[in-house]
Amino acid sequence: MGRVLYAELTPRQFQERLAAAPIAYLPLGTLEWHGEHLPLGSDGLQSQGFFIELARKAGGIVLPMLFMGTDFRQEKDGREYYGMDIHSFPNGPPQQLVGSAYWVEPDFFEQLLERIMGQLKRAGFKVVVAHGHGPSVQAFVGKTQDWQSTFGLKTFICWRGDESDGLGIQTDHAAANETSLVMALRGDLVEMDNLDPDPNVAPLGIDGEDPRTHASAERGRKAIVMNVERMANLLRDAIAELDEPGT
Ligand SMILES: [Zn+2]
Repeated sequence: MGRVLYAELTPRQFQERLAAAPIAYLPLGTLEWHGEHLPLGSDGLQSQGFFIELARKAGGIVLPMLFMGTDFRQEKDGREYYGMDIHSFPNGPPQQLVGSAYWVEPDFFEQLLERIMGQLKRAGFKVVVAHGHGPSVQAFVGKTQDWQSTFGLKTFICWRGDESDGLGIQTDHAAANETSLVMALRGDLVEMDNLDPDPNVAPLGIDGEDPRTHASAERGRKAIVMNVERMANLLRDAIAELDEPGT
């Protein structure tokens, strides 16, 4: 099906892909501590990797990954802490985790998304799928009505609502789900040996099922195949509705 990354398309290739399926995919990344074993760009790498496979199946064009995102934040003694800096230390003072550099104000993030949506409408897209870093996905989904009424854009995220089977797309933080997805998409970047082999020592800055015992490339692949299939069906219906006269 050819190239799917926006930045790599010539105008003619862009036009052809847009005419076939006016879908834009926006990977909501971060540069964020994802355990000792995963790369700092895990959120964008997972969502972009998933979107590349989805675009090959459903059509559409994959945007570059964002690395600024939003999160819960606090200041203490003049230092800034956010997300896993706070969440990882429920009983102690927060700590700045190594490599995290992504936080922007929720209002600023919404404005950024709004500008992006405006540009996507201008370029001719009708459907936008965004996914990645949890709080950024929440911010995006909170504006669904606005994207529809202001820009006429139909939007999707990739969570199903019930993720209890552990086979969703980015449903934990650097735990079994995210680790399995990075293993499946970019196994060359995963360093499981960096984690303490002692099961009684909880890995730092991880939220969810233990990746040392529950993560595998097979599990990641299964989640990707299942969700590509599911999202491709949703997008096919969305495109069909666009084509109906009078809508
Ligand atoms: Zn993540």
